[in-house]
Amino acid sequence: MQEGEIRYRRASITKSESYCCDVTIIGFGVAGLYATYCCGLAKLRACIAEFMPVPGGQCTTLYPDKRMHGAPGFTDIKAKDYVSALSSQCLPHADKILFNHNVVNISRSDNNEFIISTDHCVISSRFLILATGIGGCVPNIPTDITLNVDKSSDFIQNYCVDMNLYTEKRVIVAGGGDSAIDFATELSAIANQVILIHRRENFSCEPTKLKTIHELVESGKVCLKLHYDILAIVESEGIRYVKIRRQGASEEEKIATDHIIFCYGFSSKRKLIPGLETMGIQTVNSMIRIDITTMETAINDCYAIGDVVTYPDKKRSVVSCFFEADRAVRVIRDKIGRV
Ligand SMILES: Cc1cc2nc3c(=O)[nH]c(=O)nc-3n(C[C@H](O)[C@H](O)[C@H](O)COP(=O)(O)OP(=O)(O)OC[C@H]3O[C@@H](n4cnc5c(N)ncnc54)[C@H](O)[C@@H]3O)c2cc1C
Repeated sequence: MQEGEIRYRRASITKSESYCCDVTIIGFGVAGLYATYCCGLAKLRACIAEFMPVPGGQCTTLYPDKRMHGAPGFTDIKAKDYVSALSSQCLPHADKILFNHNVVNISRSDNNEFIISTDHCVISSRFLILATGIGGCVPNIPTDITLNVDKSSDFIQNYCVDMNLYTEKRVIVAGGGDSAIDFATELSAIANQVILIHRRENFSCEPTKLKTIHELVESGKVCLKLHYDILAIVESEGIRYVKIRRQGASEEEKIATDHIIFCYGFSSKRKLIPGLETMGIQTVNSMIRIDITTMETAINDCYAIGDVVTYPDKKRSVVSCFFEADRAVRVIRDKIGRV
């Protein structure tokens, strides 16, 4: 097997099939993967339904080639290899994994079991863990930026599916959070020129990352432009450039570049799985509200973990996924133990 390559059992089942288990986990991103591992340790039979044909969620689909930061046990690992390592740890603990299964409805039976309908089968379980992440998200690009770029062009990027795209290229990274800093740092080793543009003075990222960026700026590997607004992104007759303006200044600057990576976060187009609202789930900005002490949603025996949940000071990271998965499964294990 090559680096980063993962092989999975592909479920081949018909619509008439149904499964019964202790816990159904919807979503097989980092949160769902780790919840599966925790279920195995707790001797709970877990069935996983995942829309995609592979595990890893956004690590696999949005940034497989980017290095992971803050991933316990690894100082230098790409997201795809991290998912591979995590999968080898977690997959053996699953009772049933259903890839290519979109969960389309959830209801409850008379004996209080969850009935989870996918587009191919039905799963029933007493407990449910929602690990559906940021499914259906679109990258944020401020609407006041003039975009004069062909839709099929690779000029504007939002994620990092293939880092090779930037080798020996001029790249602008726009943003002030962890992703912007991560991209700028990583690109400094392979790109010809990296310019980091931020609208404000301060970055919202880990202090150590900031130190690294300042070192890269000092050594000339990254050019930092603070208090700048991006006005336009233009691609015309093979020439690509970005128009920017320092806040308070009147003159515009034109920077020729091969790519611009927007790191302004994502807006969710996520829709709740039908049935959850009727059962009384509570959401804030399409994210699920939970009790942080248990990870339980407003629906009894239904838990939510990972990027799909919200609570004060929630951080979107793999470590949060691990913590939340562990917490939810321990609560479920204790509930079953009390029966
Ligand atoms: C560009 C970028 C860089 C990042 N870098 C880092 C980093 O360096 N370090 C770090 O710790 N964190 C990083 N993060 C954050 C981290 O990736 C997330 O916090 C984490 O991956 C969330 O995992 P999750 O399992 O909650 O959700 P997701 O990864 O979104 O997975 C959810 C899964 O649920 C599935 N699903 C959704 N709805 C259904 C349905 N109805 N039926 C079946 N399946 C469904 C989806 O297909 C998906 O596979 C980064 C995020 C981004 C966007």
